[in-house]
Amino acid sequence: MTFDWKKQIRRMTDQGASYADVRYYPSEEEDVLFMWNGNLLAFDRSATSGFGVRVLADGAWGFAASSNLSDPEATFDQALANAKAAAKRVQRPIRLADKEVVKGRFESPCQEDPFLISLDEKMRLMKELDGYLAQPGVEQRRVVISTVKKTIRYYDSEGAEIEKAIVDIFPSIQVAAMDRDGVQQERKYLPPRLGSSRGWEIMEPGRWRDEARRIVDELKGLLTAPPCPKGLMSVILMPDMMFLQVHETIGHALELDRILGYELSYAGGSFVRLEDFGRLQYGSAKLTARADATLINSPGSFGYDDDGVAAQNRLLIDRGILVGAITSRQMVTEANDKAGRQIFDGSGGACRACAFNRVPLERMTNINVDPGEDGSLEDIIRKTERGVLLSGEKSWSIGSNREQFHFATDIGWLIEDGVRKHILKNCSYSGMTLDFYRSLSAVGDASTWEVQYVDNCGKGVPGQVMQLGHGVPVCRFDQVKVGD
Ligand SMILES: [Zn+2]
Repeated sequence: MTFDWKKQIRRMTDQGASYADVRYYPSEEEDVLFMWNGNLLAFDRSATSGFGVRVLADGAWGFAASSNLSDPEATFDQALANAKAAAKRVQRPIRLADKEVVKGRFESPCQEDPFLISLDEKMRLMKELDGYLAQPGVEQRRVVISTVKKTIRYYDSEGAEIEKAIVDIFPSIQVAAMDRDGVQQERKYLPPRLGSSRGWEIMEPGRWRDEARRIVDELKGLLTAPPCPKGLMSVILMPDMMFLQVHETIGHALELDRILGYELSYAGGSFVRLEDFGRLQYGSAKLTARADATLINSPGSFGYDDDGVAAQNRLLIDRGILVGAITSRQMVTEANDKAGRQIFDGSGGACRACAFNRVPLERMTNINVDPGEDGSLEDIIRKTERGVLLSGEKSWSIGSNREQFHFATDIGWLIEDGVRKHILKNCSYSGMTLDFYRSLSAVGDASTWEVQYVDNCGKGVPGQVMQLGHGVPVCRFDQVKVGD
């Protein structure tokens, strides 16, 4: 017998709740396979189910969750009791922005369900990928395939009814070896989302062979490469580095709950102020960034968020000027109230929880930078006098308000007089967020644009790990501090 969720939601509003919703996960499965030097080092499999209830009463949220379906009513009652208890302490009554009430279904594009592929078949493929990496000079090889499959049903007191069926796959290959100074060098490949799918079919071995050969060759080059030069120079970021730059210094900085001061306990502030919207020059006129949850092939696309708001494509930075944020129904009303003007015209549909037993909060969707008009990667290199081309994120350190950063990368290449010279090891760069984006001097065209995924974005207390994407082109920044 299926449980009548809508009846329980009505029971909440009958008892004085101004709003209630439930997210029911009939099933969520996750597999992680980790092969190290040809041996299966770990195989983690988890399966959960449960539901989470949010109730808004007397201006305060109450939340409760359970995986016990034998008495769901008790969990609804607990959520209402929690809201009423919280209401005694709440100073600013919560109001939700209006939304279009939707009944809909979202299914992520998937031709081959990875959970229907046998363990033997997965192991055979991982062995094949490992074989591509097993070359002289490579000391460590890693092949990781993580897969997720979940169904979520959502109902709220405003009449929304949504079902989401999501499959995602996060594969990667990596090689490592010690260089002549005894420092470990690494190269990795995580396939960008260029196609239209999120299923097992992206594991087709042919597409991996060339990339495996490339990262092995680059690792060998790193082992004898000179170190990164130091000084002010141009930095060209490949998409597999640019995505993290965007993630840390545009994405997190523009989460509206951070801007309003809600995430401070998790190093989660932002230098952005409410008065900055519509005014702040965040970057050069070449910078246009958006939160686009409508890309079909990314883990940052989910159809409807956990406020029941449909996926949107919204500008964050328009030709250098800050115009938008990553928003939920709750935060946009609070921000508009605090600012004394209407900055936000409704939720941007970016409110998500990572599991049934976590509360939804502002999470990145696909935080993208639009392709530009500066041609291909080779065109940009040709017009660069002196600089470094950087690829592969290795380590990062970011100010808690996202106003400054320091990144190291797996690999670099020296660029002199418009020519790519040779490989550089131990590359790094740093800067102040606004100065850096204002120095953006070239943005690659669509041929350089890739959707990179993030499967481990952490936020919230208790912690939530979220999956999302970044569609980014090759970008060049000038007068950047390199090599320290
Ligand atoms: Zn993150």
